[in-house]
Amino acid sequence: MSQTRTNLLDFDVDRLAAYCGELGEKPFRARQLPRWIHQRGAADFDTMTDLAKSLREKLRDRAEIRSPAIIGDKASADGTRKWLLDVGNGDAVETVFIPEENRGTLCVSSQAGCAVNCRFCSTGKQGFSRNLAVGEIIGQLWMAERLLREQRGTPDERVISNVVMMGMGEPLLNFDNVVTAMRLMLDDNAYGLSRRRVTLSTSGVVPMIDRLAQELPVAMAISLHAPEDKLRDDLVPINRKYPLAELLAACKRYLEFAPRDFITFEYCMLDGVNDSAAQARQLVRLVEGLPCKFNLIPFNPFPESGLLRSPDERVRRFGKVLADAGIVTTIRKTRGDDIDAACGQLAGEVQDRTRLSERSGRAALGGIPVVSMAGSRG
Ligand code: SAH
Ligand code: SF4
Repeated sequence: MSQTRTNLLDFDVDRLAAYCGELGEKPFRARQLPRWIHQRGAADFDTMTDLAKSLREKLRDRAEIRSPAIIGDKASADGTRKWLLDVGNGDAVETVFIPEENRGTLCVSSQAGCAVNCRFCSTGKQGFSRNLAVGEIIGQLWMAERLLREQRGTPDERVISNVVMMGMGEPLLNFDNVVTAMRLMLDDNAYGLSRRRVTLSTSGVVPMIDRLAQELPVAMAISLHAPEDKLRDDLVPINRKYPLAELLAACKRYLEFAPRDFITFEYCMLDGVNDSAAQARQLVRLVEGLPCKFNLIPFNPFPESGLLRSPDERVRRFGKVLADAGIVTTIRKTRGDDIDAACGQLAGEVQDRTRLSERSGRAALGGIPVVSMAGSRG
């Protein structure tokens, strides 16, 4: 029965070898296994012809390669593709693929719901449900790569070149599973992505930023959203625990280990809340001395937030203040509007229709902004 099988997507490369050892096989006989799973996207042990037959038979009896069930799959005219995945108990998470001229980026979820509860985020409004398992995180990449190759008719050509941990959830609050999944993303026997091409986005869990620096320093994006503590306390409640001075100090420490020589700051533009020229100048003073880039994100509004998107002109003016101060600033452009990929609306629609979630207070909209960077303002 599938419930009693071991899901091999839960294992990093070392653990896979150890597991084969536990099955009584010499670990070196399992060397090809991660390549079959993660590079070729295999799900059927019988196709793994260069694995020892005895190992194949044992795996067929006891193990499986299973990513979360797909309950929604939409493709946008601009090439954006968005999946809604059932992770059990009425929880669904989203994964989004965003093609660009010379790269393909997958936006991956780390938790069902999120406990941080930022004011402008519909994932936060759903509350926290649970951490995703390693197999549910890496399973998003495994599944997406497989289906995209199928869609393109190029079974051996890699489609996804970049991963951003910017879907649902706060990745640093699911540290161990996220790090194991990212280790697979980087492993040459699995996806082989460079540390520069895997970006983790966080609301600012300071102690975990330091831990990540030690364990697996990938590219770092910080969701800043405010130039001073009082406003950030309100917008990003975790700021009450780890205020801006501590967060910026952690960013400086992280840079010593980071694969890039700058931190990316994300800043969601909220009409009349954090988008004035004075606030932009305050931001310039705040980050002085810290090598960084800014991504200004147009807010994807949802009714419960009581917030509105800043007018384009104000976003441009805000960006110009940063750019004039020498900070490379981009304004993100929403993608996949025709499939509601812009703010995770798909999750909400399905929940409404099928009562996937019985929890009260669940927002009607899900929460991942699907965006891409466009046009440097610098
Ligand atoms: N929890 C992590 C990663 C997931 S959120 C974090 O907060 O960084 C990914 C990005 O989407 C964050 O920068 C977040 O602030 C932004 N975001 C959330 N809700 C949004 C919305 N409604 N409109 C625009 N951006 C939003
Ligand atoms: Fe959680 Fe990020 Fe949404 Fe804040 S913005 S509630 S940290 S997912």
